[in-house]
Parts: sequence; C-alpha cells; structure tokens
Amino acid sequence: MADSSSSSPKPKSSPPSGVVLGPDGKPCRPCTAFRNWKPLKSAKSDDKSGGQNATAAAMAALAFGTTAASTSSNAAPDEPPAHCPPDVEQLGRATWTFLHTTAAYYPERPTPIQRANMLSLIRSLPMLYPCSHCGDDFGEDMKNNPPDVSGRVGFSKWLCERHNEVNVKLGKERFDCTKTDDRWKDGPTD
Ligand code: FAD
Repeated sequence: MADSSSSSPKPKSSPPSGVVLGPDGKPCRPCTAFRNWKPLKSAKSDDKSGGQNATAAAMAALAFGTTAASTSSNAAPDEPPAHCPPDVEQLGRATWTFLHTTAAYYPERPTPIQRANMLSLIRSLPMLYPCSHCGDDFGEDMKNNPPDVSGRVGFSKWLCERHNEVNVKLGKERFDCTKTDDRWKDGPTD
C-alpha cells in the first residue's frame, strides 16, 4: 500500500512525523495514516528535532485516544484498533465502499429529484469530508470533471475515474473502470 504521507499534499505546518494537521492546527485523525506515528516512540530517546518528534508523537497519541507506547510498539497493527476512530485509510475505504455501492444501485434513469440528491451528496463532500486535504483535492478534481449523474452507468464510471485520480496521487494502480459492476454489484464472474 502506498505511503499516503509522502503523496498527500503537505499541510503548511505538518510536524516532521508525517502526522497531518487539520485546519485548526491540531493533529487530524482522519487525515493521517495510523502507521505514521508508530515509530515515534523511539523519537523521544533519539530525538534530534529539539523535542518536536516527541511532541508530535504525544499529540498524535492524544488524537487517536491511545498512549504513546501503544501507538509506537512494533506489535501494534497498521490499523487503528477496532474501538478507535478511523484513520485516513479506514475512512477512505468505508467512504469509497459507500459511494461505489450507491453508484452501483443508482437508477438507470434517475428522476430529476434523484439526480439533484446525488449531485448534492457528491458536491457536499469537499466541504464536509473529515480529511480536509482529501476533500479539497476532490473538490478541485470535480471542478474539471463535473459529476455525471445522468444514470447508473455514467455515474459509476465518473466515480471510478475520480477514485483513480486519488489512486494515482497515492502511487497506486488505476482500477479498470469496466469492472465496477463486478466489484460493487454482481461479484466476480469466475
Ligand atoms: P481504496 O482506495 O480505499 O479502495 C477500496 C477498494 O475499492 C479497493 O480495494 C478496490 O477493490 C476498489 N477500487 C479501487 N479503485 C477503484 C476505482 N477507481 N473504482 C472502483 N473501485 C475501486 N487518502 C490520502 O492519503 N490522501 C488523499 O488525498 C485522499 N483523498 C481521498 C479522497 C476521497 C474522496 C476519498 C473517499 C478517500 C481519499 N483518500 C485519501 C483515501 C484513499 O483513497 C484510500 O481509501 C486509502 O488510502 C485506503 O486505500 P486502499 O488501498 O485500502 O483502497
């Protein structure tokens, strides 16, 4: 899996750890990959950043509701524990699952109200998505590629292409957009 810390836009005041700060200047849990502060425990004893790394570790631990030790242990998983709030990756997977499944079951011939509701859902993401830099980039992409809400097939393709933009940004492979129904509606053919 790609390292989102290296491919996501760097926030202005990002601490050296890769912990992403939100618009309020505090560590942003849904903007940051959980693994990015795991190595920070050792930062405290070997901290050549004038304490910045250790401070970032403590801030991140606070943000995820974990202790500095539990976030940085080698035994800790790459994902937040099940009882913890999501990181950028869990939130992303859940959101894509929702969006692609919604696209897969969107009507072939939506009514004007269904189209308006879908537009409203999609256009609200840049403003409301809890990973702010993700939402900002999605909004910029949408300016050049307005949502196609004309029907199930067009909308699924449009969404697949938007997801591919994010995949490319993160160094991941493009998904084959002729396979969206196999993935999100019908299941694999074999
Ligand atoms: P995901 O990319 O979450 O994909 C889930 C599943 O969808 C895959 O397993 C695959 O089966 C399927 N899939 C993959 N590509 C497509 C496609 N094109 N069409 C249909 N199905 C597909 N993370 C960042 O670090 N930085 C960002 O700027 C960022 N922006 C985001 C913007 C939005 C709007 C969203 C919803 C998420 C964003 N994310 C961002 C999260 C990121 O896209 C991933 O969700 C996260 O990195 C987890 O990736 P993953 O490899 O587990 O699979």
